[in-house]
Amino acid sequence: MALIVQKYGGTSVGSPERIKNVARRVAAFHARGDQVVVVVSAMSGETNRLIALAKEIQPQPEPRELDVVISTGEQVTIGLLCMALAEIGVAAKSYTGGQTRILTDSAFGKARILDIEGDAIRRDLEAGKVVVVAGFQGVDSEGSITTLGRGGSDTTGVAIAAALKADECQIYTDVDGVYTTDPRLVPSARKLDAITFEEMLEMASLGSKVLQIRSVEFAGKYKVKLRVLSSFEEQGEGTLITVDTVEEKKRMEDPVISGIAYNRDEAKLTVLGAPDRPGIAYQILGPIADANIDVDMIIQNVGRDGATDFSFTVNRAEFEKARSVLESARAHIGAREIIGDTEVCKVSAVGVGMRSHPGVASQMFRVLAEEGINIQMISTSEIKISVVLDEKYLELAVRVLHRAFGLEKVSGAA
Ligand code: ADP
Ligand code: ASP
Ligand code: MG
Repeated sequence: MALIVQKYGGTSVGSPERIKNVARRVAAFHARGDQVVVVVSAMSGETNRLIALAKEIQPQPEPRELDVVISTGEQVTIGLLCMALAEIGVAAKSYTGGQTRILTDSAFGKARILDIEGDAIRRDLEAGKVVVVAGFQGVDSEGSITTLGRGGSDTTGVAIAAALKADECQIYTDVDGVYTTDPRLVPSARKLDAITFEEMLEMASLGSKVLQIRSVEFAGKYKVKLRVLSSFEEQGEGTLITVDTVEEKKRMEDPVISGIAYNRDEAKLTVLGAPDRPGIAYQILGPIADANIDVDMIIQNVGRDGATDFSFTVNRAEFEKARSVLESARAHIGAREIIGDTEVCKVSAVGVGMRSHPGVASQMFRVLAEEGINIQMISTSEIKISVVLDEKYLELAVRVLHRAFGLEKVSGAA
């Protein structure tokens, strides 16, 4: 008997038939004696629909009220799944984030989980029930509903697995595991049987939305056994997220690069003609941080004649907000002009093998140059290299890098 947390994403619960399918899978685990907590997303497309609905009423709604609206998709699915389970004779009980006591901070739209009380869930599990929890939502200290950011149901799943000390957290989705790159963009991408936490963290943070980054952080921190699987296939081991060391990777002679990630949700802002003096980066980025906007890549050009240009990237959804913050700060900064570009993307190569293999960056730059793709920004860490490109080159860049780093499926293999 094991305690298992299973999370089903939007496509997996996208229709009544699919919800019934999930119920059958859950029932099979329950029947073999496992305790099962199921975390579900909203039905596919529902969260987007709710966001669009809210924006029809008010273009920039108060984040608290937006969360009240967009958290409702998950509430529908928990009820429907409990009904589907009841239909096949399995006792189940639904819980919203608040009822589960998923306590978060008050950063509406991107709240962080602080604690999960979980006592009620434990009692229901002991009583032999399947517990069905709404993903993506929590409650702050004032009792307000919060949401955890897009894709946040993964994080709910892993956080509950950590809180309950579950034996495994299974993330069921519409692909059968983690691939060398998005299999929808590159059909020759290869499924990985295992990937290290470190690599998965980078892949997720760089845009591979198969797992929300916070879910990977949680799993690493609380040692949750995490697996990504298909909800549409009966068989299959999926991909296990492991804690392998670099030495083990080398011994297995794994490739230097494990995957290529991309992110379209990028936007670039440039402050032109800022005075080249100590403190200027802080003057530009301080107000951005105060507005709770995350900054990703940063470049400051060499100063000339006492002035410099300063560029950074933000999430595209926060571009307008960031631009208006900078416009308000421009006079104080003493800059000439603020310009922006929302048609950029980020493409990254990830692999722990990079630590022991120099020359990966130059290979990446050569491959892009051969295709005539201009690199606008570069950032590196020990195990990743990211470049910002014109969005129109995204697909081409991912495909040529995937091939150049030998990540293609071996021909003839499934
Ligand atoms: P869910 O609704 O189940 O949470 P998501 O759409 O959030 O599913 O995530 C699954 C999708 O992630 C896949 O359909 C795939 O297109 C995309 N994806 C991006 N990068 C990868 C990758 N490296 N491996 C697998 N899937 C990936
Ligand atoms: N329904 C939310 C979203 O679409 C959360 C999730 O699916 O994980 O982002
Ligand atoms: Mg998801």
